[in-house]
Amino acid sequence: MSIETKNITTMNNYARWPLAIVKGSGMKVWDEKGKEYLDMTSGIGVTSLGHCPPAVSDALGKQLDTLWHSSNLFQHPLQEKLGEKLVQISGLAQAFFCNSGAEANEAAIKIARRYNQKIKGENRYEVITFTQSFHGRTLATLTATGQDKVKDGFLPLPEGFITVPYGDLEAVKEVATEKTCAVLLELVQGEGGVHPASKEWVTDLFNWCKEEGILFMVDEVQTGIARTGSWFAYQQYGILPDVVSIAKGLGSGFPIGAILATEEVAQAFAPGSHGTTFGGNPLAATAGYATLQAMEEQQMLSHVKRVSVELMHALQQWANQYPEQIKGVRGLGLMLGIETTENADLYVTAAREKGVLLLSAGPKVIRLLPALIVTNKEIEQLLKVLHEVAQEINQVNK
Ligand SMILES: *Cc1c(COP(=O)(O)O)cnc(C)c1O
Repeated sequence: MSIETKNITTMNNYARWPLAIVKGSGMKVWDEKGKEYLDMTSGIGVTSLGHCPPAVSDALGKQLDTLWHSSNLFQHPLQEKLGEKLVQISGLAQAFFCNSGAEANEAAIKIARRYNQKIKGENRYEVITFTQSFHGRTLATLTATGQDKVKDGFLPLPEGFITVPYGDLEAVKEVATEKTCAVLLELVQGEGGVHPASKEWVTDLFNWCKEEGILFMVDEVQTGIARTGSWFAYQQYGILPDVVSIAKGLGSGFPIGAILATEEVAQAFAPGSHGTTFGGNPLAATAGYATLQAMEEQQMLSHVKRVSVELMHALQQWANQYPEQIKGVRGLGLMLGIETTENADLYVTAAREKGVLLLSAGPKVIRLLPALIVTNKEIEQLLKVLHEVAQEINQVNK
């Protein structure tokens, strides 16, 4: 296998690793030759219960022989069941399902505009977003994204988005006008380099938005569904947003996304104002419900809280031994970033050769997004490889 292998299915969008994963189980995946890897990526925060979790696999297997698709024109008991579960764990009132994170954020932006224009009768449409954020690849969500590289070559962009520095309340106040309808933010920025927001800033921003009648929308596509040790990251910030978008961890790898909203905001949509062919279909709803149920049964929230402390501690001890190479470790729950002085891809590549899959998030951040079922055993395996890799890179530098 070589990196130059020509690929006709990405239109050059991915610099793919020279590795084809053909099988997965729990924390492990295998390549075509049968080589085993410890997966600390979980498909970029998707396979939260590990690969092919039996509970979800069984539920999907049964559903495959019952009904795959009917459309959103019909009553949909499985979707209702998943919706009720999400309402119960989120404290929000209603759900709308779609197929991806970008689509969820697209729906969030649409409902924010429509709520202001149809319910409040105001001509507000502008959404304030933040530097280094990532919200998706559709035209609206790439415009919302606070990184220039995703916008390159796609002009003209839709109107109505302003990006200000993450963590800066004064900057938000400065750009807000009578046209501002919402803020949209990640509480831990994922793709942008694993940056948790400070509690103080989030509280102040939330309170200010409430005073100004500006909707507070949280992109939990990566942080949601137990990733940070609570069902949603906002629950650790002590706030209840108006709109929340979710996707990655919801279906254990079966494509599904959703927005959740308060009763007040949910009334903004009316028959025909938004829609989807596939969103929340019987297979997706089954995958979502089985995932949440298995997480509850396996007491995933308390497991994540416990194991993430251990992982963070182990990484910090490791980092302390290589002060010239590793600048620090940060994150929340099982969403962790390690800041390196060298290119993070050096670590990612070296670890892969030793059978451990890691991610990067920007040029100098190694990112860990293990399945939530990760245990001490895998943490030990990871740390052994991280020591080897750090020493190798240290040698090369000498
Ligand atoms: C991955 C991600 C998205 C985009 O999700 P897709 O399913 O790839 O469209 C949006 N927001 C955040 C925070 C993400 O991490």
